[in-house]
Amino acid sequence: MIIGRRTSQGVPSRCWCGRGIVIFYSRTDENPYRRFYRCEIGAQRKKENHLFKWVDEALLDGIRRVEAQQDRIADLIEDLKENLTKTVEEEVKKQKKTLELCCLGSILWLLGMANRQE
Ligand SMILES: [Zn+2]
Repeated sequence: MIIGRRTSQGVPSRCWCGRGIVIFYSRTDENPYRRFYRCEIGAQRKKENHLFKWVDEALLDGIRRVEAQQDRIADLIEDLKENLTKTVEEEVKKQKKTLELCCLGSILWLLGMANRQE
């Protein structure tokens, strides 16, 4: 196999050299008909260290990356839910206190008015 090849994560779209990627079929006994990504230039200049990646490994890698991303998003949503609940509870407490003070003020004012009329 190619020694010291550069690795990329997920499904590659470009080689490190900037050139596009082509899909080839392996013709070795070890990996018959196994598809692989190869740099356009690397396919011609085999001694140079251009991108090479098995398609099945790239797809699996891509799926794992998406799964990891989903886990991070799920954690983020959980954190947001907790923060939102905490914020709403604190705000409700504040509003209750304000409302209680307001009610108490109104009652005292009404009592004051009632006393004046007597
Ligand atoms: Zn390349």
